[in-house]
Amino acid sequence: MRSFYDQPLTSLERYCAGARLPQIHARNLFRNAYKALRADPEQDERLPRALTAAFARDFSLPLPRVVEAHRSAYDHSVKLLLELSDGLRVESVIMPESQRLTLCISSQVGCAQACVFCHTGRMGLTRNLTAGEIVGQVVLADLWLAAHPDWPSVERRVGNVVFMGMGEPLDNVDAVADALSILTDPYGLALGLRRISVSTAGHLEGIERLVALVPNVRLALSVHSVDEQKRSKIMPINRRWPLASVISRLKELRPEGNGIPVMLQYTMIKGVNDSVEEAARLVELMRGLEAKVNLIPLNPIDPTRLVAPSPETIQAFRDVLHAAGVRVMVRYSKGQDIAAACGQLVVRA
Ligand code: SAH
Repeated sequence: MRSFYDQPLTSLERYCAGARLPQIHARNLFRNAYKALRADPEQDERLPRALTAAFARDFSLPLPRVVEAHRSAYDHSVKLLLELSDGLRVESVIMPESQRLTLCISSQVGCAQACVFCHTGRMGLTRNLTAGEIVGQVVLADLWLAAHPDWPSVERRVGNVVFMGMGEPLDNVDAVADALSILTDPYGLALGLRRISVSTAGHLEGIERLVALVPNVRLALSVHSVDEQKRSKIMPINRRWPLASVISRLKELRPEGNGIPVMLQYTMIKGVNDSVEEAARLVELMRGLEAKVNLIPLNPIDPTRLVAPSPETIQAFRDVLHAAGVRVMVRYSKGQDIAAACGQLVVRA
């Protein structure tokens, strides 16, 4: 038995060809599952018996189960706690914004990267998610929204996806690439690649592999410090792939003016990475790179003593970037009251 949700359209087309069924049915299966959100072919009388019988024999439809849905009273974000078929749990977060609806999804159960300021990092890595478990998070969010028409949000379907939940997506490149294929397929969820961001702590090998598979993928890079020594302390991955090496490769892949900006994420930590000197160094470092910067005030996680800088310090840092012509936004994390903010996702197995 294969999971339907693991299959890009091309593999379903190959399956149909192998089963001597017209390939057009692959599209029909995709449309049902991702547009109508009704994956079971039995429910579609227009499909031939031969197809539904073969499908029932060869495919399962294992969506994760929504165990809990925590709704934020402040910003209308919703954290979905999902149980996978082996009982492990992950989280995704629905984030309504003024014009659009973004879903933050997980790519692994836990994470191997152990960034000191991130709660998920403390769990260690349990396993990678499959492509189907990644895609399933989007399907479940769409189903949740359909079942809760009263929930305030301009959009009723997920319009943007960020791989910024649990896990390091570039430690799981094959599943992420298949998931991107399904998410962007016009017969599938039909999200433009521009609407999806894959965020990495700086996994250079993973960047190479993903860009080879999906050349125009939008990458986000967690920078958090431009000082190599300091960065190695807060992000152990920096010892393997120093920031300078990651940025210089990104400048080749995404040179200034190429129109596919890298989103540089900078989690601001009081007294650690918040000086205006460091802001000036960031400006220098990103010269020649097509990039934007998001400043994210740290969401404190126990038991570290790390906290966010004052709003004035954040503003001063922002002003240095802004004055240098850098596109910069200060992003306050959503879902703080439901432990759904950046770095707060953690589950007990
Ligand atoms: N592993 C990927 C994606 C997951 S984290 C990565 O590192 O990019 C998504 C973003 O949240 C990253 O930029 C991460 O550094 C940031 N983050 C983690 N913990 C945080 C915290 N406590 N406060 C604010 N941002 C945090």
